[in-house]
Amino acid sequence: MTRLTRADLEALPAYVAGRNVADLAKELGLTEAIKLASNEVAYGPLPGVPEAVARAVQDSHRYPDMGVAVLRDKLAERYGVAADRIVTGCGSVALAEILAKSTCLPGDEIVYSWRSFEAYPIIAAGVGATSVRVANTAEHGHDLTAMAEAITDRTRLAIVCNPNNPTGTSVRKQELDRFLDAVPSDVLVVLDEAYREFVTDEQVPDALATYGDRPNVVVLRTLSKAWGLAGLRVGFLVAQPAVAAAIRKVVTPFSTSLVAQAAALAALDAEAEVTRRCALVVAERERVTEALRKLSVEVPTSQANFVWLPLADKAAAFGAACEARGVIVRPFQPDGVRVTIGLPEENDAFLAAAEAALL
Ligand code: PMP
Repeated sequence: MTRLTRADLEALPAYVAGRNVADLAKELGLTEAIKLASNEVAYGPLPGVPEAVARAVQDSHRYPDMGVAVLRDKLAERYGVAADRIVTGCGSVALAEILAKSTCLPGDEIVYSWRSFEAYPIIAAGVGATSVRVANTAEHGHDLTAMAEAITDRTRLAIVCNPNNPTGTSVRKQELDRFLDAVPSDVLVVLDEAYREFVTDEQVPDALATYGDRPNVVVLRTLSKAWGLAGLRVGFLVAQPAVAAAIRKVVTPFSTSLVAQAAALAALDAEAEVTRRCALVVAERERVTEALRKLSVEVPTSQANFVWLPLADKAAAFGAACEARGVIVRPFQPDGVRVTIGLPEENDAFLAAAEAALL
């Protein structure tokens, strides 16, 4: 048969979304299953968001503002950066894709840590770039020295995921300073801070505040996690104005939808509630970590809204055992299992399933 799509895509792993809760509940004959697989925050939409969405829908026969002016101004004010440095998109994953598209031609290299966010290899392959994966340290974090050494004159993009998905580890200011100083000025460094709001370690820098002025740094943020908009798809990046302008040229037109823009504006008005929820997530993260460590599982210290169990080749079996007890987690065979922090009772159900699976 004639091949209609690129041959190299055949070898590409597909992005695996967490399993559908309703399906699993039906399969197990339960009234409901628990999903701790996609790093969402479990406390529902932020106050004001459903109303803003309902209002925006009234205009859904119209295109959204392509320049996203009102939202970019609001983000600019909230984060203390000029609006011309901000680009919004259909989730930060779409912006990561656009960044690859804006920097790489086929054969160019993208350096990132592995294991990290599963979209990175897909994004690199999508533009025909070569993935240069630098192995995580024995503590499951980025090896920034090795990453700096892996940069060649083909490298166009280096991605640092801080905190790292799925291991929860983070890099601190001193090592990040050293890395950024070592990277050539013509390589764009993406600091992916999807989980920034859950960071409590004061030595883990806020990239916007600390590195925002570096010409070759782009900071990636999302409203999907702490801001509760995973289902509406809004992310943003902050770059130098010239970089932002170039990126804006290749962003899919109108990809920050009318409803997403309205929802993001409402979410940004509910920051006190975001802060309250993040504190609840952090407290549960500490509790779950401690309980797992008591079961003799290694759990790297997480600065995100999930924890990582480096169970190696037992990851898939552990995932299946949790599912059999109605709790969907996210195995990454053969490295480990990522478990999102949910509501306290959901975390209890996970801990019970984990205990049964491990003992
Ligand atoms: N970066 C990282 C590290 C992530 O874990 C995720 C979500 N899983 C994203 C980016 C993308 O999030 P979104 O597209 O929902 O903004």
